Amino acid sequence: MDIPFVDLAAQYEVVRNDFLKKLDEIGKSGQYILGNECAAFEAELAEFCESRFVITVANGSDALFLILKALGVGPGDEVITAPNSFLASSWVIVATGATPKYCDVDSSFNLDPSKLEGAINERTKAIIPVHLAGIPCQIEEICNVAGKYGIFVIEDCAQAIGAKFRGRSVGTFGIGGGFSLHPLKNLGVMGDGGFITTNDEELAMQIRLLRNHGLRNRDEMMRWGYNSRLDEIQAALGRLKLKSLREWNSRVIEIANTYKNALQTYVQILDAPLDSYSVWHNFLIFTKNRDQLKNHLLQRGIDTRIHYPIPIHLQKGHNNEYSQGSFPNAEYQSTNSLSLPIYPTLDNEKVDYVIQNVKSFFEA
Ligand SMILES: *Cc1c(COP(=O)(O)O)cnc(C)c1O
Repeated sequence: MDIPFVDLAAQYEVVRNDFLKKLDEIGKSGQYILGNECAAFEAELAEFCESRFVITVANGSDALFLILKALGVGPGDEVITAPNSFLASSWVIVATGATPKYCDVDSSFNLDPSKLEGAINERTKAIIPVHLAGIPCQIEEICNVAGKYGIFVIEDCAQAIGAKFRGRSVGTFGIGGGFSLHPLKNLGVMGDGGFITTNDEELAMQIRLLRNHGLRNRDEMMRWGYNSRLDEIQAALGRLKLKSLREWNSRVIEIANTYKNALQTYVQILDAPLDSYSVWHNFLIFTKNRDQLKNHLLQRGIDTRIHYPIPIHLQKGHNNEYSQGSFPNAEYQSTNSLSLPIYPTLDNEKVDYVIQNVKSFFEA
């Protein structure tokens, strides 16, 4: 049996007929950017994410970057984020001229709120907690700490669309949330895309300006901006896929539970916080024989990934600012974690095949 790590073509089949019709409609409409599809997608995303405002942008990195810019984060400021995230959580901070600072993660491999205060100083302007792998971080506690020091919380929700913490959608706890529509995310389009959630009207207005050259209308520029927009074709595809997202997330949760029940005596499983609704963008298991297990599975046709083999603070781009051992839990993840295939079109037979082969590795 061959089990790829992702299967985007299978998901495309679900929307293919409707999408091809839409594509033709859009072509004939002559309206390709910031049109009806984009506006309708923003309204539907706002409802799905339980957020007052949604602004679509060109990608998930821009979503985070534009929130930082709109809040005035820049040179001289520090922003705290998780060292075990995807690089974008960190480079968006650098792109504003501010400095990224890190705080280690806890047993759910998200920012550890109890370690946060140690990383805050008078230059700290914001915190970007990440809901990594679709598992909500301890966002309420993080917001409490931030509130005490009067600093912004910007949620990196790129991997967590549909996730909830204590019944409330991620992206609605902080001042804003950044989401990605990259093909590999739980809601992915056929290229790059992203969006911002916020309940703050002024922030929403500033981001609408920033994403479109700073323009208020066709001719009047209110502030220097950028070009970061989602085009009509991607918005139309996003709308069609959004209809299935609840169902897809449920299926992914079902697979995660099957993996958990079958494998927890063999490997450490990601420890999601209680009373959270996790959408399992990735399913991470932990073992000190990670590389051998990865090989064992590959030889049996099962493709796995590592999220991520080099923690951000140890990347070359950081020019040796940090040494090994700076953030032990993040480093533990990079050397011991393995992500198993998990996506809505993965059927039970394949899930069982993965389970049998993880077991056979440990039983050998
Ligand atoms: C994917 C991702 C991003 C960036 O999204 P893009 O759309 O690829 O720019 C940011 N943060 C995290 C945690 C991600 O996984």
